[in-house]
Amino acid sequence: MLLGRSANEDGDAGIDYDTLVVAAGARHAYFGHDEWETLAPGLKTLEDATEIRARILTAFEAAEVEPDPDRRRAWLTFVVVGSGPTGVEMAGQIAEIAHETLRRDFRNIDPSGATILLVEAADRVLTGFPERLSARAARALERLGVTPVFDRAVVDLDSRSVTVQAPEGGVERIPARTAIWAAGVRASSLAGMLGEVTDASVDRAGRVAVGPDLTLPAHPEVFALGDMVQVHDAQGHPQPLPGVAPTAMQEGRYAAKAIRARLKGSVRPPFRYIDKGNVATIGRLKAVVDLKGLRLSGTLAWLAYLFVHLFYLVGLQNRLLVFIRWSASFLTRGRGARLITGQGPHTQLPGTHAEPISRQAEPERRTDREQAVAGGR
Ligand SMILES: Cc1cc2nc3c(=O)[nH]c(=O)nc-3n(C[C@H](O)[C@H](O)[C@H](O)COP(=O)(O)OP(=O)(O)OC[C@H]3O[C@@H](n4cnc5c(N)ncnc54)[C@H](O)[C@@H]3O)c2cc1C
Repeated sequence: MLLGRSANEDGDAGIDYDTLVVAAGARHAYFGHDEWETLAPGLKTLEDATEIRARILTAFEAAEVEPDPDRRRAWLTFVVVGSGPTGVEMAGQIAEIAHETLRRDFRNIDPSGATILLVEAADRVLTGFPERLSARAARALERLGVTPVFDRAVVDLDSRSVTVQAPEGGVERIPARTAIWAAGVRASSLAGMLGEVTDASVDRAGRVAVGPDLTLPAHPEVFALGDMVQVHDAQGHPQPLPGVAPTAMQEGRYAAKAIRARLKGSVRPPFRYIDKGNVATIGRLKAVVDLKGLRLSGTLAWLAYLFVHLFYLVGLQNRLLVFIRWSASFLTRGRGARLITGQGPHTQLPGTHAEPISRQAEPERRTDREQAVAGGR
């Protein structure tokens, strides 16, 4: 059956449609090492975010009760893989958590002594930005307490270490108990499925090819949009569009207008992407902005970043609510929810289930911290 137009052969109820719009996005890409996903989660959904928060907070808790200095150092070493906008923001946030949020929360460890490594295969952070802004972002990260590690590709991961390789082949194993993946995405599996049933080509990132009107070849009734597609022009050449929200939003608007136009019996001209520039945040009052020749860094760039993100939220109420929350969190430097949630083995303290704790740890102290974790702070 091609793109089920009614109940399928197995008897499952299908939904009839005149026009189908598919925009299933992308997930993290582990370059053939899917087994790394549990070791180094990526940030895509709210669930991912709470899992990553739990891992970061658990690592500090585990370091607090770990008497062995080498093992404590490994708990206090955080590796972020990939220095695009997501990796840069993630590393900056971990540094702020270590230096500010948790500064006074522990008795045995100094959280600000944590090592935060931002591992990047290229020779600079934020390769989508001009070199000058990349250099400024790297300096801002260093001031926050992040160490960018350039020209190193991650070649192996386990629950205790990250192994990186230099271009000339030297391999280094970094003891680290927390790794976070921000090194690339792969289109939703729906893209491959659509390619299979329509004979549309699928590229190495798993994106299905759509024509200049954002429909699948020979299927004008099926639009595919956003991170899961690669747009081709009328000559069949792929267009290098960035995998960012403005691309997906412009494509969404185009599809809506094309459908409306069809209902009126007319045809829209091909989709044209309008590049509005690039923004990336690093930390409090630190960002870089490249808006059509206007290149900013520091506080002004950070304010521009906030403005752009508020502006594109849907509805005035959402904008106001987010603005109030951001203002409160900025003024109080608050990170209210320091909850460790979830049941995964990575969110358990050493000595509770997954991880044998050293015999030298004080049992009654461990119990206190376990209670604190279970009840939140
Ligand atoms: C941490 C992070 C930060 C980012 N920050 C920025 C930024 O600051 N600026 C920027 O421009 N871009 C940013 N991006 C990129 C931006 O989020 C994406 O480019 C954009 O969301 C793509 O839109 P989309 O509609 O294609 O996919 P998505 O927004 O990913 O939406 C796809 C939706 O489809 C759902 N879905 C998937 N499969 C199915 C299925 N089989 N059935 C039903 N539903 C399904 C998914 O759950 C998801 O809700 C960021 C991305 C990440 C991960």
